[in-house]
Amino acid sequence: MGCQEDEFVGNSLIQMYAKCGSIDDSLKVFDGISGTGSPVCWNSMIARFAENGFYVDGIELYKLMMENEILQTTSTFGSVMKACAGLDATWEAKQVHAQLIVRGLISSVILETALVDMYMKCGEIEMGRRVFDGMNERNVITWNSVIRGYSQMGYVEEAFELFGMMRKKEMIVPDKFMFPALLMAATKNSNVTEEFIEFFKAIHAYAIKIRLEANRFVGTSLVAMYSSNQSLGDALLAFEDSYSKDIGLWSSIISANGKNGKAEEALWLFYDMLFSDIKPNQFIYSTLFMACADLSTMETGKQIHGHSLKSGCPLDVAARNALLSMYSNCGCIDEAKRIFNSIQNPNVISYNSMISAFAKHGLPTEAVQLFREMKDIGLKPDDITLVALLSSFSHAGLVEEGLELFYSMKENHGVEPSYQHYACIVDLLARAGLVEAAERFVNEMPFKPGPSLWQVLLGACSKHQNVEIGERVAEILLELEPNEAITYVLLSNIYAKCGRCVEADRVRNLMVERRIEKDSGVSWIEIEREMHVFGVEDRSHPRSKEIYEKLDDLIRKIKEIGYAPDITFAAHNMENERREESLYYHTEKLAFAFGVLSTTPGVPIRIMKNLRVCGDCHNANKYFSLITGRTIILRDNHRFHHFKGGKCSCGDYW
Ligand SMILES: [Zn+2]
Ligand SMILES: [Zn+2]
Repeated sequence: MGCQEDEFVGNSLIQMYAKCGSIDDSLKVFDGISGTGSPVCWNSMIARFAENGFYVDGIELYKLMMENEILQTTSTFGSVMKACAGLDATWEAKQVHAQLIVRGLISSVILETALVDMYMKCGEIEMGRRVFDGMNERNVITWNSVIRGYSQMGYVEEAFELFGMMRKKEMIVPDKFMFPALLMAATKNSNVTEEFIEFFKAIHAYAIKIRLEANRFVGTSLVAMYSSNQSLGDALLAFEDSYSKDIGLWSSIISANGKNGKAEEALWLFYDMLFSDIKPNQFIYSTLFMACADLSTMETGKQIHGHSLKSGCPLDVAARNALLSMYSNCGCIDEAKRIFNSIQNPNVISYNSMISAFAKHGLPTEAVQLFREMKDIGLKPDDITLVALLSSFSHAGLVEEGLELFYSMKENHGVEPSYQHYACIVDLLARAGLVEAAERFVNEMPFKPGPSLWQVLLGACSKHQNVEIGERVAEILLELEPNEAITYVLLSNIYAKCGRCVEADRVRNLMVERRIEKDSGVSWIEIEREMHVFGVEDRSHPRSKEIYEKLDDLIRKIKEIGYAPDITFAAHNMENERREESLYYHTEKLAFAFGVLSTTPGVPIRIMKNLRVCGDCHNANKYFSLITGRTIILRDNHRFHHFKGGKCSCGDYW
C-alpha cells in the first residue's frame, strides 16, 4: 500500500474505534501512522479526543503537534477550541487565539464563531464579546453562541438585548437551538423579575409565530423555563404543544412537577410516558423516587423501583440516594440501609441521606458510625451532615455528645455553625427537659430566632410543665404570630397540666374570641397503592362504620390490659366522659383500625401524620402493638416511631 492509502485506512480506523467507544484502539492506530508528518491523522485524533470528552489529551496532542512542527489547519483549531471549552481552560484558550492571529486564520466566520463559543463556554464573557463585536460577518450559530454565553451566567437583560439586535439589525431568523440558548437564562438567574417573565412569555409567543413551538428542543426549554418560574400550568401547555416528545422532554416535565411539589402529577406523567413507549432513564427514576419520598407512598415507590430493575437501566449515585430517602421516608430503614450499601462510590449526599435517615429513626449509634466511616474514606462532612448528626443526638437525648459536636464543629470540621445548627441545639436542650438552658441558648444565639424555634421551646415547657418560661415564650410567639393556634393550645395545656384550670380556660376562650382555627390533624395510610386519609372523628370513609366498630373493640381490649386514656390531650371545653371519647377517635387511631381491617395479620402497619403524635395516641399505639402483634410504624411531622411488642423505638423520648 502506498503512503496515502495507509493514511486513509488509518484515519478510517481511528474514527471507527472512537465511534465504538474504544479511544485506546484509535490511539494505537494513530501511533502507527503519526510519523508521516501529514496533519490529517493528527487532526482526526484531536477531533476524536475532543468529541469523546478527553479534553486534556486533545490539548496535549495539539501541543505535541506544535513541537513536531506539523502544519496546523482550520480543522486542528476547530477541535482544540472545543477541547478548551470543555475544560474551561482559559489560559490555553488565549494561546490558541494568539496562534490564530499569528497565522492569519482569524477572518473565517467558522473559526471566529468557534472562538466566541470557546470564550463563552469558559465563562470569559468579555473576551467572547470582544471577538463577537469585531466580526464582519455573523451567522445564526455565532448569535446562538454569544446569547448562550450570557444566558448561562444568568444575564437575562443582555441576552434579550442581543436577541433583539439579531432580529432587527441583522434580520436573522432564530433557529431551534436559539430558544434553549435564550431560555436558559430563566433557569440560571435566581432572581427572575415579573418583567423578565414577560420577556420569556414574549419569546414563547415568538416561537409560536415562527412555528417552532412544537419542536422538541424548543418545547424542552420552554418547559424548563416555566417550571423554574413555578408556572406549572404553562409548562404543561408547552409540553402538550410539542409533537415529537422525546425522553428529554418527558424528563423535563416530570422533573418540573417533582421539583414543584407535584409529586402525584409526576407519577401520572410517568405512566403516560410508559404508555407512549418511551423508556425511562435514571434521571426520571431519580425524580420519581424523590416524588415517592415526598408522598411517602411506599407501594408506588417499590413498584417503580421494581420497574427500574426490570428495565435494566443502571441507577447512578443520585438515583440511589433518592431511592434510599424514599425507603427511609416510608419507614423502611433496613431497605434504605441495603440501598446505601449497594452504592459503589457513595458521595457526601449519600452519607447525608443515610445519616439523616438514622436520625429520624432514632438510631444515633448507627449515625455516628457512618459519620466516622465517611471521614475514614476521605469525604468531608458538610453543614448538612452535621445537622443530620446533631438531630440524631437530639432524637436520642444525647445532650453531652450534641454539645461537644456543636462547639467543635468549626475547629474539627471547618463548618461555621449556621441557624440550622443552633436550632438543633435548642431542640436538643428542650427535649431533654433543660428548658432554662434552652431559653438562655436562644437568647444568646447570633441569629434572630424564628417562630418555629420558639415553638419547640414552648412545646418543651408544656411537656415539662414550666409555667414561668412558658408564659414568656408564649408572649413572644403571640406577638410574632398572633393567629397561630398552636401557641394557644400549648399555653393552655401548660396551665392545665399544672392544675391552673382557670387560666387554661382563659387562653382557650381567647382563642375562640379571636376566631383562631386549630390546625386540623390528619393521618393517612396507603393500602394497595391507594391513600386513605382520616381527619379527627372523621366519618367520611366508605367503611366508616366498620372502622369505628373495630376501633371501639381495640380500645376495649387495651383498656383491659392497662391502657388509661390521658385526657389532657383532649380538647378542653368538654365534659370528661365526652373528652375521653373524642380522644379515641384521633386520626392515627382511626387509620390504625382501618389498617388492621385491610391487611393480613402480621403485616406491619405504616401510618403517616401531619402533626406531632399526641401523648395519648403514642401510649395507645404501644398497647395496640402488643395486642395485635403488629409492628406499627408511625411517621409524624418530626420523626419515626416503630411500635413493637408494647414498646416504641423512641423510648418515649420525642
Ligand atoms: Zn392523639
Ligand atoms: Zn415513639
